[in-house]
Amino acid sequence: MITLDTVGKTFPATRRQAAVTALEDVSLTVERGQVMGVVGPSGSGKSTLARIVNLLERPTTGTVTVDGLDLTALTSARALNDARRGIGMIFQQFNLLDSRTALANVELPLELAGVGRAERRARAGELLERVGLGDKLGSHPSQLSGGQRQRVAIARALAPRPKVLLCDEATSALDPVSTASVLALVRTLTDELDLTTLLITHEMDVVKRVCDHVTLLEHGRVVDSGALGDVVARPESPLATRLLPHPG
Ligand code: ATP
Ligand code: MG
Repeated sequence: MITLDTVGKTFPATRRQAAVTALEDVSLTVERGQVMGVVGPSGSGKSTLARIVNLLERPTTGTVTVDGLDLTALTSARALNDARRGIGMIFQQFNLLDSRTALANVELPLELAGVGRAERRARAGELLERVGLGDKLGSHPSQLSGGQRQRVAIARALAPRPKVLLCDEATSALDPVSTASVLALVRTLTDELDLTTLLITHEMDVVKRVCDHVTLLEHGRVVDSGALGDVVARPESPLATRLLPHPG
């Protein structure tokens, strides 16, 4: 479970740029087994939110709790690394290493965590099987389609057995067919592994296909949040109405 309590993030002014408040007073809860969609226009703070949950950024105010652990209170490098291992993330650009096979890409986080070779291999092979790439273990990313690359990235993100999966525009670079199958995979994995999943997108269509809950962000603030059905039935903000044209 992920809980954000009154989270704010202001990037300080630099010589070239005034201070930017990317998030303000953001509170939300995502339960285990849920896929929470975070939707909003460009610059609304979606990636900043994901980076805060992933400890790549520290919030300026508020707290972030994952499965009861207050991430904002962690200071030692070791504690931060341990916590990070419990949070998997995938991106629009996959970020795979082309010098490595699919199998070796999935093994990488396990190598870094000091897992022995035989166990690494076995776990990576199993995960690639699970994401439907059991016949591509030896392929390099350049030999795979976009959808297949994202599946490898998902397997890699899940290798350390995280409880949380963050997806930042994970299907934005994919064609409609690959998008549908990657989204279906995220849904299945969330259900089977009881993950807490945050799915960031600027497309409401994506949310409608996999999410059970949705949070709408605008200018760094939550303007609407709740079960998908409720937000669709009773949009509370102009943004919701714009994103969810009401039938009739
Ligand atoms: P997009 O849909 O384009 O990916 P986003 O919703 O993910 O947008 P963010 O990347 O979270 O938006 O950015 C939110 C705001 O914070 C923007 O105004 C951005 O310029 C600013 N911002 C993000 N990172 C930094 C940073 N490291 N330093 C200064 N400002 C930043
Ligand atoms: Mg972004």
